[in-house]
Amino acid sequence: MSPFFFKQLWGLTCIFDTQIFTVKVTEHLDNAKGKTLFSFEVLPSIKGRDIQDLYNGVEPLMEFDPSFINVTYHREEFIYKKLSNGLHEKIAARKRPGTVSICAAIKNKFKVDTVPHLICGGFTRDETELALIDMQYLGMNNILALRGDPVKGESTFVPEKDGHAYASTLVQQVSMMNQGRYIDDEIVEGIPTDFCIGVAGYPEKHFEAQNMKTDLRYLKEKVDAGAHYIVTQLFFDNQKFFNFVEECRSIGINVPIIPGIKPITTLKHIAFLPKTFHIDMPEALADELEKCKNNQQVTEVGIEWGIQQTKELIAYGVPCIHYYTMGKSEAVKKIVKTAY
Ligand code: FAD
Repeated sequence: MSPFFFKQLWGLTCIFDTQIFTVKVTEHLDNAKGKTLFSFEVLPSIKGRDIQDLYNGVEPLMEFDPSFINVTYHREEFIYKKLSNGLHEKIAARKRPGTVSICAAIKNKFKVDTVPHLICGGFTRDETELALIDMQYLGMNNILALRGDPVKGESTFVPEKDGHAYASTLVQQVSMMNQGRYIDDEIVEGIPTDFCIGVAGYPEKHFEAQNMKTDLRYLKEKVDAGAHYIVTQLFFDNQKFFNFVEECRSIGINVPIIPGIKPITTLKHIAFLPKTFHIDMPEALADELEKCKNNQQVTEVGIEWGIQQTKELIAYGVPCIHYYTMGKSEAVKKIVKTAY
């Protein structure tokens, strides 16, 4: 993990002289007493941009009283830098740093709970422990524990030496810290942390899994390791989500399952979203999108589809809906305004 991460955290402890107490995601769900909550996810700004860019995406959604806001984590990717001799050098660079500091900044500015994403990729177990300690000191007790994708430009996920190969062992590590058990075996009576742990689920199967059944078995492994709730990959077909929930329940996964959805807003999305997230586009949606000539028409179709998806998910009784904004909040705003 880059030393940059720790420098940011160190900076934060200087900025905030009190801890940032967070209500856990599961407490929000319990307190809702059956009402479907609203949450959304933002990406850290690209390095070199003002944090105001990110706030501009958060602000329009605050009127809907989100219960929590997730902030994604982006590891390094390989880029090719042109040298003065005309050759190219392959270097690793992180383009969207700042997950934890952004969580603290959003919490501080908007008084809303935040959930930093924590990934296995790029972290040794020791570095994970240190990152968790920093979060604990900041009073953050929500995390979404993920494996992370392979580094951009590489085909398979490679863990760090002594890092986690799967999210399930990352969850195990966090659960152990919640019991006061640290990697550093010199710590005998460690202070137990109090993290509420979310994990990812895939209604249409994770793309690397051999089949749905195996994928669900590994999802159960994450829950058995201590995950408190699941947030799903985005999907356009609610029936796939309903089937997924049923299959989870049938194998003893009993934690809350939060559906993740994203409105389609550009012509580019039509090919990009199914390809990138390994999800199907239902025929009825594909037919409507085929008639679109520009992004505005796509956005109208996307919003209408999002409204119907949301209404149906609320009627089904989901505990919360998680909207992937990818930095664009206008479409989500229209959906939530109409459907909630
Ligand atoms: P795992 O649960 O570890 O599963 C990965 C694959 O390995 C699956 O195919 C699973 O079936 C298989 N598997 C699991 N355990 C075993 C085992 N013991 N033996 C063999 N196979 C096994 N990525 C980011 O980089 N940053 C983010 O902020 C981010 N946020 C996300 C938020 C959500 C809600 C979701 C759904 C995804 C997010 N991702 C993010 C993407 C995620 O990191 C990728 O989908 C990644 O490829 C898998 O992560 P996972 O945690 O589901 O992995």
